[in-house]
Amino acid sequence: MHALIVVDIQYDFLPNGALAVPMGDEIIEKINRIQQDYDLVVATQDWHPAGHKSFASAHSGRKPFEVIDLGGLEQVLWPDHCVQESGGAELAGLLDTRRIEAIFRKGTDPDIDSYSGFFDNGKRKNTGLAGYLRDRKVTAVSVCGLAADYCVYFTAMDALELGFDTYIVEEAVRPIDASAYMDKRATFLQRGGKLR
Ligand SMILES: [Zn+2]
Repeated sequence: MHALIVVDIQYDFLPNGALAVPMGDEIIEKINRIQQDYDLVVATQDWHPAGHKSFASAHSGRKPFEVIDLGGLEQVLWPDHCVQESGGAELAGLLDTRRIEAIFRKGTDPDIDSYSGFFDNGKRKNTGLAGYLRDRKVTAVSVCGLAADYCVYFTAMDALELGFDTYIVEEAVRPIDASAYMDKRATFLQRGGKLR
């Protein structure tokens, strides 16, 4: 079984969103088209309580994209985004969700960020995604979505570590920072990840 993991196709990550990924909207049609190539499709959704500690606004005197120490982890501070129940947190209307069997929400703990669809950034809690995939006899996963250099990358790295045969679908990802993505992509390939 080969699963497609569709990462964070939410309005706040699309052009005009609170944390827009450049050309993030370009990949939605591609994701719709490739879903038919997989046995199973699941999605992740960034889903923060208001005042989440990954937001610059939660730290006095800090600005978005500054880096701080948060509970012993390096944390990029983001603009407020994907606040639970807000319009920006909704999955994009153009995304075909008919084949998405389950949606795994992440970033729900106010004190820790969660880039990966499997675990928070400190690996303190898991989202249930790994168990779900194993129950469905999934052995290979392909990851697509936003953003390539954060949530796609960390989801793919955790999938590798969990023992899945892991691919990044490059035509169906977009990064916040293209050069940062190239470095992370090299790490992913070194660890045995593949592209398709
Ligand atoms: Zn977030």
